Amino acid sequence: MKFEEIELSGFGKYPKALCKVARPNGIHEVLECLKSGSVISRGLGRSYGDASVNDSGIVAESLIMNKFISFDDSSGILRCEAGVTYKDILDTFVSRGWFPAVTPGTKYVTMGGALASDVHGKNHHKEGSFSSYVISFKILIASGEILECSREQNADLFWATVGGMGLTGFILETEIRLKKISSPYLVNKAVKLKNLDELFSNFEEHDADYLYSVAWMDIVASGSKYGRNILLLGNHCESTELTEKLRRKAAEKYVEKKISVPFEIPFTTLNKLSITLFNNAYYMKARSKTDFQHYDKYFYPLDFILNWNHIYSKSGLIQYQLNIPEEAGKDAVDKVLKKVVASGGGSFLAVLKKMGDQDGILSFPFKGYTLSMDFPVKKGIIEMCRELDAIVLDHGGRTYLTKDSILDEKTFKQMYNGLWEKWMDIKIKYDPENKFTSNLARRIGLCPS
Ligand SMILES: Cc1cc2nc3c(=O)[nH]c(=O)nc-3n(C[C@H](O)[C@H](O)[C@H](O)COP(=O)(O)OP(=O)(O)OC[C@H]3O[C@@H](n4cnc5c(N)ncnc54)[C@H](O)[C@@H]3O)c2cc1C
Repeated sequence: MKFEEIELSGFGKYPKALCKVARPNGIHEVLECLKSGSVISRGLGRSYGDASVNDSGIVAESLIMNKFISFDDSSGILRCEAGVTYKDILDTFVSRGWFPAVTPGTKYVTMGGALASDVHGKNHHKEGSFSSYVISFKILIASGEILECSREQNADLFWATVGGMGLTGFILETEIRLKKISSPYLVNKAVKLKNLDELFSNFEEHDADYLYSVAWMDIVASGSKYGRNILLLGNHCESTELTEKLRRKAAEKYVEKKISVPFEIPFTTLNKLSITLFNNAYYMKARSKTDFQHYDKYFYPLDFILNWNHIYSKSGLIQYQLNIPEEAGKDAVDKVLKKVVASGGGSFLAVLKKMGDQDGILSFPFKGYTLSMDFPVKKGIIEMCRELDAIVLDHGGRTYLTKDSILDEKTFKQMYNGLWEKWMDIKIKYDPENKFTSNLARRIGLCPS
């Protein structure tokens, strides 16, 4: 098998490292990778930092191990290889009336990546994360054995692998449950709100009526505009609710249209002024209204902009995603936002949403509020994120490993206190020599000592 030397990063293009990349096309080639050194598995590289980067061994991409294995049309249970993507599933199953039960904000994510990060969507507070719909998976572990894992079989490895950032083995296959839908459209309700108080009360007010909810926050606005936001709520639409025109469109083959960010925009072009203008225009133009949206536009707006990650400059971007317990939610979000606004914001994209309870060891979600923000990598940004870490820790929260590129070992271990130790016992049982490792793992100390 060929190993290619490539400079790799995650979606944030920061940090970068020169890696030996392999593209195994079957179990025998994954085994070959393991014989050649330490390994981290990689899907489509949509994690933001260095979770699927390993500059001290091999990066094994799952992308050509991407076959559907079986599908039961009565239960919606799909078995597929780990390199199958959300896009593959949507393209194949939406027209048959099935949809992923949990989806992140991009469809360019593999099932292996979704499981290893235990991804969540806009419905987490109601329906849980990806692992809630995983029935079982097959994994190749450090000894070269292949194990089937479920809540009943090898349960410790099951729970260490969901949210385990690829550090327990190479996931070969996943068996997941899809949800039944009757149309590709969603009812989308936008509610324009003036501040955080209005947002928190609207989350509660609409909770019973909508499955999906997320708020876009303007994190540049200050003074009387501070905290303004637009709450976006949604439900899958029954085909009987659609207008005749949309019913006809729903029956046609769906064609995606994309625009592209052709080169990296220097941050001097995309400065505080331009972001303020963009946010102003977006907020002012928005109306509180209800309409129908195709699932592609509703769930994956960023996928319409090819190379979205070029928008912030050559030096890349950091996505900072925190989760704070429910009781402390508003207070902590307020403190974080004030700090970001005071430092000049600099982010188009800031979203706040509710999270529900979640099983798992290193899985990110728990009942509370999650806020994610993009920051261009520039002077002072890491120091600001460290200050945000202190607020998060102070309120019993944590940040999301799949988005992370800057967390240090001490802070990680405080944020995941009691959990990382439990996870490490299982890691040592299945991978005592630390064959599966990554730059992220070494940075935050997720390695047996
Ligand atoms: C625009 C955008 C929006 C996003 N929105 C959300 C969101 O709403 N919610 C959310 O939770 N996440 C979100 N994400 C993050 C993304 O869903 C996760 O980072 C996901 O894990 C990426 O999957 P991937 O296939 O690209 O894997 P990679 O980024 O390549 O890898 C991610 C992790 O999975 C591991 N992995 C990959 N394949 C395997 C395998 N076969 N076996 C074992 N481990 C494996 C890697 O080692 C790594 O630790 C978003 C990302 C982007 C770019």
